[in-house]
Amino acid sequence: MKQLYLLAGLSLLASPLLAQRTLIHCGNFFDGIGNAVQSQMTVVVEGNKITAIQKGYTSPAGQDRVVDLKTKTVLPGLIDMHVHIENETRRGATADRFTQNVPDVAYQAAKYAKTTLMAGFTTVRDLGGSGINVALRNAVNRGLVEGPRIFTVGKSIATTGGHADPTNGYRSDLMGDPGPLEGVINGPEEGRKAVRQRYKEGSDLIKITATGGVLSNAKDGQGPQFTEEELKAIVETAKDYGYPVAAHAHGAEGMKRAIRAGVQTIEHGTYMDDEAIELFKKNGTYYVPTIIAGKTVADSARTFGYYPALVTPKALAIGPKIQATFGKAYKAGVNIAFGTDAGVYIHGYNAKEFEYMVEAGMPPLAAVKSALMTNAKLLNMDTQIGSIETGKLADIIAVDGNPLQDVKTLQSVRFVMKDGKIYKQ
Ligand SMILES: [Zn+2]
Repeated sequence: MKQLYLLAGLSLLASPLLAQRTLIHCGNFFDGIGNAVQSQMTVVVEGNKITAIQKGYTSPAGQDRVVDLKTKTVLPGLIDMHVHIENETRRGATADRFTQNVPDVAYQAAKYAKTTLMAGFTTVRDLGGSGINVALRNAVNRGLVEGPRIFTVGKSIATTGGHADPTNGYRSDLMGDPGPLEGVINGPEEGRKAVRQRYKEGSDLIKITATGGVLSNAKDGQGPQFTEEELKAIVETAKDYGYPVAAHAHGAEGMKRAIRAGVQTIEHGTYMDDEAIELFKKNGTYYVPTIIAGKTVADSARTFGYYPALVTPKALAIGPKIQATFGKAYKAGVNIAFGTDAGVYIHGYNAKEFEYMVEAGMPPLAAVKSALMTNAKLLNMDTQIGSIETGKLADIIAVDGNPLQDVKTLQSVRFVMKDGKIYKQ
């Protein structure tokens, strides 16, 4: 009886609520598709969708709500293809693995998610954590936690002792012998099992660590860590589940093996050589630079004791090289997607990457677009996000200046709407 009454009440309320339109008055407007901003436009939002884009400032009617952004530039919500939403750098953070419980990580991850959203990143691709990233994605989707739309790999896949082996650097009696369940594989069969395990756990895509890396407590930062057979098995199995594969790679050999195996993106790409550049172009592989992460690890490594002894020399050698690699790759015509490795630096500074991209020779328009439709396409979400167009999800942000002239303005986002809901104004 009570339930029926509630339902009837809701349906009476529901129709006028759904009919309410939000009229966003945009002083300047960039739809993410064109090559310039337009002045004095109105974006109409109903529910979680963009339902119209009109010239001038549309007058409200009935229950319409007006959002006045007449002094701002309005643009699509930004997309970051490389974050680690569970963790954040700080001096001595390696000890966390032995002291933090699952709920500790969950609470901090929720905070980082909110920070990321408030910085104007309405969608992120999480490239590796403990699996809490999957639960966080679900919690955001259910509206329990405020954060960006998350596409997550869950756990990364590595080989024994490789960059994402979660027991690297442990005391021998704590090391154990992690397998495909934990994301550690040896041989093509285990590679297939690891992909299927990620599917079972609810991952959205697959991440592999094709070469050594900077922050793992292991000596090598760039050598290849998978055989061609292992890579092939992983990429082929991932395809069966509709999963693209993202490959962490610093050294050229591991990078080339991963590209030949058919991965969608190469992350970092530090020691990319001419042959690798040709392979990128031939295979249509995308490069996700993460310049800000490289600069941050090199800076932090200069503070004594910030990283373990094995990590410091790798951070000093690899970190400063990424920006130049990016400049070379861009000029050579490699496809560029926007990604930052947030968590390796402090969450919320993602937009600093635009400044580094422009510094290395990419025009502001191209840099901004790399974080919009390019990323939306790679996520297979280009009909829903990445631009402000009628029928798309209402992921909309605003900044003070014109980001196509000065990308630094993206570092101070003033307005954030995700899925039609305002989070920052
Ligand atoms: Zn990463």
